Amino acid sequence: MPPFDVPEGDPFGPHNLPYGVFSLPGSDDRRVGVRLGDHVLDAGAAAAALGSPYVSLLARPSLNPLLAAGRTAWSDVRRALTGWVTVPSHREIIEPLFHPLSAVTLHLPFEVADYVDFYASENHARNVGRMFRPDAADSLTPNWKHLPIGYHGRSGTVVVSGTDVVRPSGQRKAASDPAPVFGPSVRLDIEAEVGFVVGTPSRMGEQVALADFREHVFGLCLLNDWSARDIQAWEYVPLGPFLGKSFATSVSAWITPLDALESALVTPPERTHPLLPYLDDTDDEPGGYDLRISVAVNGHVVSEPPFSTMYWTAAQQLAHMTVNGASLRTGDLYGSGTVSGPSERERGSLLELTWNGRDALELPAGKQTFLEDGDVVTLSAWAPGPDGVRVGLGEVTGRVVPSVSRP
Ligand code: MN
Repeated sequence: MPPFDVPEGDPFGPHNLPYGVFSLPGSDDRRVGVRLGDHVLDAGAAAAALGSPYVSLLARPSLNPLLAAGRTAWSDVRRALTGWVTVPSHREIIEPLFHPLSAVTLHLPFEVADYVDFYASENHARNVGRMFRPDAADSLTPNWKHLPIGYHGRSGTVVVSGTDVVRPSGQRKAASDPAPVFGPSVRLDIEAEVGFVVGTPSRMGEQVALADFREHVFGLCLLNDWSARDIQAWEYVPLGPFLGKSFATSVSAWITPLDALESALVTPPERTHPLLPYLDDTDDEPGGYDLRISVAVNGHVVSEPPFSTMYWTAAQQLAHMTVNGASLRTGDLYGSGTVSGPSERERGSLLELTWNGRDALELPAGKQTFLEDGDVVTLSAWAPGPDGVRVGLGEVTGRVVPSVSRP
């Protein structure tokens, strides 16, 4: 199917136009691409062929120059691209600049600067609290409803969808073990999340207000925060996640611009506690996104987490992340935290789906709790788009391969 004739209703139609970076077989020449249906447009070549001034932003090996160009440029480039792939008079010039997705290699689409991961699902936080602090009066910690809890992660191990994930090794110590042992994780897990990509930087000492979220954040993507629960459980007190998380974080090859998700904006859940002014979004435009996520293990869907249930919005997370004067850099990535809905089939981690290994999942290949070597985990999602057409998010997939560790 030629890309100009992408079927009406295709979730990657001209209403979507996510950005990625690709190369052609036998070449390491990386180029910004825009997805249309099951094709990718060489965006820099298109800009050059049409004499567009955006060639300086698009004929590049990563999205960073476009990310750094700011919100006005993001809107202008998107408007131009929409014209290039829909106006019939461009067809003759543009059509040869498409490549089938099956014929290209997709790369990490931007240089990841800093990486932060949050903990913004109330259902997830309560499930974890019930499992690990069963005697606590409240399954949430006292700070949870007052600030979006997060930690700084490792940007150098953010990898693009399709990259194998080597089973991590580390120390673990079950309550019954007399001493810690070292070895490959036996509780390897996933966290289904959404990642937000910062374009416009901010200065040190400056706070980014809730209302300025769209000035700074370019778009979003699916994100899998691979987690070794056994390593995490032994190391995390008192400073939080470390080696149980830092070995790999997978992101989609496609960054969906926020401009494609206007129809997906929703009001977040009712705030049950008064918020400090810098986090108070009561009178603001809706800050939630209605993203319907699906988690598949070896092709079998095990969960469908609804992003609309997230208590803290991406705007609140950005405001909180900068309230102390910490600066933003182009390419900063922050994860939403595991997305878990209220029902059992809406949980975004195997930790919750199996209740810490107590209840095995029934997969076609047999019963299973945590991930085995060879398992492939795929996150996919869609959002409501204009005129009832879905906006597809690029999937994020990864295969677990055996540990290579020495004792
Ligand atoms: Mn996480």
